[in-house]
Amino acid sequence: KASVMDGDNYNNEVLKESVEDLRTKSALEKLQEERKTLPIYHYRDELLQAVNDHQVLVIVGETGSGKTTQIPQYLHEAGYTKRGKVGCTQPRRVAAMSVAARVSQEMGVKLGHEVGYSIRFEDCTSEKTILKYMTDGMLLREFLGEPDLASYRCAILYSHINGFCSVGYSCLFNMAATFYSVVMVDEAHERTLSTDILFGLVKDIARFRPDLKLLISSATLDAEKFSDYFDSAPIFKIPGRRFPVEIHYTKAPEADYLDAAIVSVLQIHVTQEAGDILVFFTGQEEIETAEEILKHRTRGLGTKIAELIICPIYANLPTELQAKIFEPTPEGARKVVLATNIAETSLTIDGIKYVIDPGFCKMKSYNPRTGMESLLVTPISKASANQRAGRSGRTGPGKCFRLFTAYNYHHDLDENTVPEIQRTNLANVVLTLKSLGIHDLLNFDFMDPPPAEALLKALEMLFALSALNKLGELTKVGRRMAEFPLDPMLSKMIVTSDKYNCSDEVISIAAMLSIGNSIFYRPKDKQVHADNARLNFHTGNVGDHIALLKVYSSWKETNYSTQWCYENYIQVRSMKRARDIRDQLEGLLERVEIELSSNTNDLEAIKKSITSGFFPHSAKLQKNGSYRTVKHPQTVHIHPSSGLAQVLPRWVIYHELVLTTKEYMRQVTELKPEWLVEIAPHYYQMKDVEDTGSRRMPRGEGRAAS
Ligand code: ADP
Ligand code: MG
Repeated sequence: KASVMDGDNYNNEVLKESVEDLRTKSALEKLQEERKTLPIYHYRDELLQAVNDHQVLVIVGETGSGKTTQIPQYLHEAGYTKRGKVGCTQPRRVAAMSVAARVSQEMGVKLGHEVGYSIRFEDCTSEKTILKYMTDGMLLREFLGEPDLASYRCAILYSHINGFCSVGYSCLFNMAATFYSVVMVDEAHERTLSTDILFGLVKDIARFRPDLKLLISSATLDAEKFSDYFDSAPIFKIPGRRFPVEIHYTKAPEADYLDAAIVSVLQIHVTQEAGDILVFFTGQEEIETAEEILKHRTRGLGTKIAELIICPIYANLPTELQAKIFEPTPEGARKVVLATNIAETSLTIDGIKYVIDPGFCKMKSYNPRTGMESLLVTPISKASANQRAGRSGRTGPGKCFRLFTAYNYHHDLDENTVPEIQRTNLANVVLTLKSLGIHDLLNFDFMDPPPAEALLKALEMLFALSALNKLGELTKVGRRMAEFPLDPMLSKMIVTSDKYNCSDEVISIAAMLSIGNSIFYRPKDKQVHADNARLNFHTGNVGDHIALLKVYSSWKETNYSTQWCYENYIQVRSMKRARDIRDQLEGLLERVEIELSSNTNDLEAIKKSITSGFFPHSAKLQKNGSYRTVKHPQTVHIHPSSGLAQVLPRWVIYHELVLTTKEYMRQVTELKPEWLVEIAPHYYQMKDVEDTGSRRMPRGEGRAAS
């Protein structure tokens, strides 16, 4: 009897499979048809010829012309994947994932097999992978090659002996696991920090590997600069089709652009003909607020008005929801996509007819004098505004509603966005370059060099963290730190945890800090409950870092229970991500030969580990309840979401600064000032940490600083 059952099951399976086959085949065929409608399709052969004829090619084509999804496939079809992989970099995680998913569909293969992606803390590739989409940061990390330091040193030696290239990393680039026949640096116009560094490295590699093809692709027309940098590489232009876009400005500046954007969405929805809407916001929080308000307001519109489908898209949106923005809008309904900058050029959503542009984005800004970095909501550049407007004219004439005045546009906006390399903390990049064996940073071949002051500051910081010695050479600590794909301060905290026997706890904290501020969840109607639940983890005013650790270990104790997360107003998704990151950090510990050791009850040891990475971020309480940072004094405040916001300890150490209405410290822990001198005697002296609060100590009475 059993065999009959098995037989039945078997037949069913076969049947199901062939039905599935039929369905996917027709879907595949449809996708193949779609591919042929993209502007780039007409230039396929010409493009392949140009790639064949030149080692470096700059490719320019409007967003949506098919550069990212098609070029790697063309290269595959032309046989380039027989010799090595085709790698394609993206500045944004979501873009790398989403494009890889699309290309795997078009090729009819499973994502992660022939087509895969690699982003920080997530590798969705396999031995089969021939088309590899990845963030620019990941390709940069691939240069670091195997962690095995012996082979690394060999590589440097090898390159010196053979005189092939200026440094050792290029040899690593040749190794099987990362052997590329083509590297496409996509979205080059974004000029992210990693892309800019990649330019210098791939340019160097191309010199000694004539068989490597380099494609630099960009959505904007100022390709001359890329061409000049790559020794006058030819420029291949893909003429796009673009329909006229009507631009509307507001008559007066908007006081509240979020509200203005929502009103505009509803107005378009009620008064304008069919077509989807794209709104640009600065980040997740704004998008979530807008989503909530829109849902609320459309509920009251009644049944006469068409359905409005709301689709948010931002970097941390869970993968399963990301696909939703690409689903075709049902007949009679309208889609509104609430997006960050990601929809400016990285992702193309078909069917957008209206764009609403408040004119802002979130941008990193860095003060090399103080070494302080902040995320700021900043006006966008003219180039960005034009890219955004262009999104509405892809499939037909479009309209763009700018929530700022024409005067603003013409007189206040910068022409172009300043490249990230000129407005960011360079400590991470300098550490990476140093570990690649690139010592002479001032003479590195930058397309636009960073301010010398920022480079020096980064060197200074790495020296303070003991990652570099006085000669600017990488130390053993620095070499270990470079293994972690984290900010050097976090890496240092982890590397030092070995000394305090608490690496187990410290990697949990690092993983939780890497998630950002999406751990706790605070629904509008249950704020009091949510706040109480959160305060539970702060019992004893342990500080935010230890509270994060408590959240993680309590969750672990429940065997990663989802129910527990609900009960405690904690986002399961974020926790799962933290667990993934933690697992990887645990793997990296092993690579740098740090044993996993636990010291749960010794909070002081854990806090000292944190201090050893974050000592430059110390601050001292002032009489008025604000804080003063110890080095490079500046007034800051404890963020209201911190467990210490009401406690106001005398000395604190913080994870990061965010500037909203004030300069806030986020993730704060209490500190004993003497730790600063104990842990970083080269950075702090007794006089920095003397408590001069109420009574001033007579001169000379405090222990003299050595
Ligand atoms: P470019 O890189 O030149 O901006 P793309 O190759 O990204 O252009 O896009 C080409 C087409 O593929 C667009 O019409 C876009 O809508 C579609 N596309 C890209 N990614 C996806 C996806 N994840 N799902 C559905 N369609 C997609
Ligand atoms: Mg693209």
